[in-house]
Amino acid sequence: MNPDPRTENDDFARARARLIEEIERELIETRAYLKTDHIDPRVLDAIARVPRERFVPPDMRQHAYRNQPLPIGNGQTISQPYIVAVMSDLLQLPAAGGRVYELGTGSAYQAAVLGAMGAEVYSVEIQPELAARAEALLAELGFGRVHVRAGDGYLGWPQAAPFDAIIITAAGPEVPQPLVDQLKTGGRLVMPLGPSGGAQTLVVLVKQPDGTLAQRELLPVRFVPITRDPIDS
Ligand code: SAH
Repeated sequence: MNPDPRTENDDFARARARLIEEIERELIETRAYLKTDHIDPRVLDAIARVPRERFVPPDMRQHAYRNQPLPIGNGQTISQPYIVAVMSDLLQLPAAGGRVYELGTGSAYQAAVLGAMGAEVYSVEIQPELAARAEALLAELGFGRVHVRAGDGYLGWPQAAPFDAIIITAAGPEVPQPLVDQLKTGGRLVMPLGPSGGAQTLVVLVKQPDGTLAQRELLPVRFVPITRDPIDS
């Protein structure tokens, strides 16, 4: 990338456009899993507007528009853009954006994409250092409707509930019940379900009127695990 900040921005904009094309290609390649090759246009539009280079560490910036996960420090990763696109689409956000809860803020890229789609986002990160960095960055970039809090995201954000949709961006062997309780009837919860380090499946759960969940399994995925205690590293 060019070190001149003006042309650097142009380079990033071009890289972002190429990334969108790559995501579209991968969506078509994986349509047998996804059972659709149509993606909510708001998703790609949001990805086209969120500067992913700002959500990765400075030494990773030149790789920001590769369609792959990247390390963000503290042993955590920013998800692959294709996965961000798929998960954002699966939430089926209401026309006005709706209220979304996220477990696992990480870099805040996923939260920013949902914010750019018009959602009011409530995101919890268990590592205080990552939560603080995410909050500062979102404020700097003007994402006023994306709220971040440090804490155990397993417990949700009861004061902001109920949510139209919930996204869990760390893997766990079961669906966190507090989050099911904070989901509206008819609302969707998207998460990687499975043991840490083992085979995980991206699932979509729809909350039924009787409180149970209808489950659809989509893609094999690999996410970092949901932890219950802050890790000092
Ligand atoms: N959504 C992120 C990627 C998530 S990586 C992004 O767009 O960059 C998973 C994140 O979940 C990590 O930052 C990890 O610290 C966090 N996490 C793990 N267990 C958690 C818990 N119980 N509550 C909140 N966050 C948790």
